[in-house]
Amino acid sequence: METFRIHLWIGNEEVKTKTYAEVKDPGRLSEVVGEVAQGTEQHVDQAVRAAHQAFLSWRNTDLAERSALLNQAADLLQQEGPALANILSREAGMLISSYRGEAVRASNIIRSTVVNAQSFFAPKVVEDENSWVSVEKRPLGVIAAIIPWNVPLMLTMQKLAPILVTGNTIVIKPSPFASIGVSLILQKMSELFPPGVINVIHGDGQAGAALTTHPLVRKISFTGGGSTAKSVMKSAASSLKRVHFELGGNDPAIVLEDANLEVAMTKIATSAFMRSGQLCVAIKRVYIPEKLYDAACELVVAHANNYKIGYGLDENTTFGPVNNRGQYAYVKELVERAKNSSATVLELGTKLEPDNWNNGYYLNPTVVINPEQDQEIVTCEQFGPVLPLVKYRSEDEVIHLANNTEYGLGSSVWSSDFEHAVRVARRIEAGMTSINGSGLSALGHQHIPFGGVKQSGIGRENTEIGLSEFIEYHGINIHKS
Ligand code: NAD
Repeated sequence: METFRIHLWIGNEEVKTKTYAEVKDPGRLSEVVGEVAQGTEQHVDQAVRAAHQAFLSWRNTDLAERSALLNQAADLLQQEGPALANILSREAGMLISSYRGEAVRASNIIRSTVVNAQSFFAPKVVEDENSWVSVEKRPLGVIAAIIPWNVPLMLTMQKLAPILVTGNTIVIKPSPFASIGVSLILQKMSELFPPGVINVIHGDGQAGAALTTHPLVRKISFTGGGSTAKSVMKSAASSLKRVHFELGGNDPAIVLEDANLEVAMTKIATSAFMRSGQLCVAIKRVYIPEKLYDAACELVVAHANNYKIGYGLDENTTFGPVNNRGQYAYVKELVERAKNSSATVLELGTKLEPDNWNNGYYLNPTVVINPEQDQEIVTCEQFGPVLPLVKYRSEDEVIHLANNTEYGLGSSVWSSDFEHAVRVARRIEAGMTSINGSGLSALGHQHIPFGGVKQSGIGRENTEIGLSEFIEYHGINIHKS
């Protein structure tokens, strides 16, 4: 199979480095997918300066021009989607079908961001007999975008589109665990734009730190884990950079007594095990009323047992490996500790290629029955294919359990009574709550700013509120007399 050599991308040119990191296929550890340049502090400086130079003219382009280029970028991404899906599945492990869908969604995010920008930039001018006031929106400058590995195309475009359409330039640092496909499409896209508008660097924590401390970077838009975010925030303090954080979650699903149990449990299990549980808004703990508990467990176990665990490029696979060694070891240890508790741990699904099992980061879809309400497997962000099913006795108790956490990203309520469900939803401390579904509907995506409360994030993505992350206001006031 084809292998890739990815260089840094600065000012629309490849920049080679001394060191390259090997990327192995998480579903075939014996196979190398490619190698990726490792940038130094000097490379980061070069990229930021290129972005800063480009900003001086890009900021003056008009919205129509920026919008047209972004729409072309969206078309390009859609066109390249199937080829990218193949590469992403090899480097990051998830099902090829999930990346095909992601490429389409990522293109749509670019287009909807452009649509939102048209109303966002509508002039705001007020006047009376004494004065004239204009509230204007200005770009910030160079924005550093730091991306995780789990939904790499979508999360990259969810930053790139609002950053560029508002007149900023960007230095992107993809995750080392999903950098090849993202870099290839970013290189092609960037050729649509003036050199320096889109730059891509790679590297370890040193390169990350160089980016987050660089004085010409005005804002850091980071998606990833909370502990990394804390060190990014410390680095950002040195030059008082703004930060925008989209972080982890431990999304509760609250099943109410009046839920349609069969539909609810099937949808909940589907959400929890999507991308082998490696989604920030995957359902990570389920609360079930005592009297529905046994029936609910049976439904989830039956669903999980249907997964066919195998290689991401095999179209028969419905459940891929996890992305990297660290994640694999973390989830495996969590499961082992749960097995040593009073909970029942069921490792389910069918292995499509038993002989290849140890040649990849393969884990079973795992259901944990009867855990304690405060057990580690319930209170942590597993970010893997493990779903604890927790019993509750009263509505007040379940609201307390759902909110008794520093996380607050997504959440869901399951009920056949909408009014009841909305009453419960309003008591949950989260950025988003879905009723009888997980994640956002198409209309929800259009109107709901994406993000979390408490330690799940600072700021929001998508909608006009997401655009406002990347501008400053400039008020101009004429005193007439
Ligand atoms: P991570 O925090 O380990 O890494 C995220 C990015 O930060 C990577 O590009 C990494 O290379 C970079 N990085 C690491 N150290 C750095 C440093 N010192 N300075 C600057 N950058 C540095 O997270 P991950 O394992 O890639 O992703 C998983 C986490 O991301 C989970 O917690 C998940 O919930 C979260 N996530 C959140 C959202 C959301 O929208 N809220 C979406 C996807 C993933």
